[in-house]
Amino acid sequence: QKQEWAKLKDEPTTTADGAHVELAANIGTPEDVEGVLNNGGEGVGLYRTEFLYMGKSQLPTEEEQFGAYKSVLEQMGDKPVVVRTLDIGGDKELDYLDLPKELNPFLGFRAIRLCLERDDIFRIQLRALLRASVHGNLKIMFPMIATLEEFREAKNMLDEEKVKLKEEGHNISDDIEVGIMVEIPATAMIARQFAKEVDFFSIGTNDLIQYTMAADRMNERVSYLYQPYNPAILNLVNNVIEAAHAEGKWAGMCGEMAGDSIAIPILLGLGLDEFSMSATSILPARTQLKDLSKEDMASFKETLLSMGTSDEVVAFIKEKTNQ
Ligand code: PEP
Ligand code: MG
Repeated sequence: QKQEWAKLKDEPTTTADGAHVELAANIGTPEDVEGVLNNGGEGVGLYRTEFLYMGKSQLPTEEEQFGAYKSVLEQMGDKPVVVRTLDIGGDKELDYLDLPKELNPFLGFRAIRLCLERDDIFRIQLRALLRASVHGNLKIMFPMIATLEEFREAKNMLDEEKVKLKEEGHNISDDIEVGIMVEIPATAMIARQFAKEVDFFSIGTNDLIQYTMAADRMNERVSYLYQPYNPAILNLVNNVIEAAHAEGKWAGMCGEMAGDSIAIPILLGLGLDEFSMSATSILPARTQLKDLSKEDMASFKETLLSMGTSDEVVAFIKEKTNQ
């Protein structure tokens, strides 16, 4: 089996009926890029930048961040690299920021919420990213976006830093796509409106499932409610993909679900453009996709979206794809 996977390392990802999708990887550090390339990754779909901020006693400097972003971009060459801006707070704490304890950290002051208020921190990251942009194919993504205003405000700060850097004499790429993670149901619901303003969506199902089902992703006692295949999730995912395509934008997914063998046929049928997963899942996914027909999977769409339970969805997919 490993041999069959290896043969596909340098092949594009093509379905049985000739459709193309992109298989990208989730990374946390520049050292992870080697594994992405060795596993045939067509891009980085999620670079979690939290590691730059964690396990130390102070914020990373602009230079330190610039070095990390440049390294990832250079190693990936002209392949796309989606860098997610700081997603701290919630369960990921930074001692040196001295944030007050919250009753519901997952519903609290985290990610873009923190970045918009502490824009002193945020702007340093944006500057490092903009400066690194000339070293590869950079796309910037904001996490935990709940409203259009949040996106506009973050985008505004990015544009302001771009102007300042240019005035300071720096070269900045002119075609950096700017997108958002869809991990909050409110955002998935009005993806239509977002799609007019963002360049792309990446669906973060790890959080989207938790918020849609109101079930803590870390709490064992409610883990039965953590259902990726629940039709509620599939309808939200479908809404996001349709909205993106209606505006000529692309939709990816960077939650765990993107690399799951039950989810892959469903997502292919819904028209997902980019699947971002752990590097070691890429070749198995490419192998699976090679034998799937996008048209067949798309013909199941209405049936799947109108099902009542996760179990029905799983049974249906298993039968249709011989799993
Ligand atoms: C997600 O929420 O699906 C995601 C990819 O982000 P994280 O797992 O880092 O919260
Ligand atoms: Mg998340």
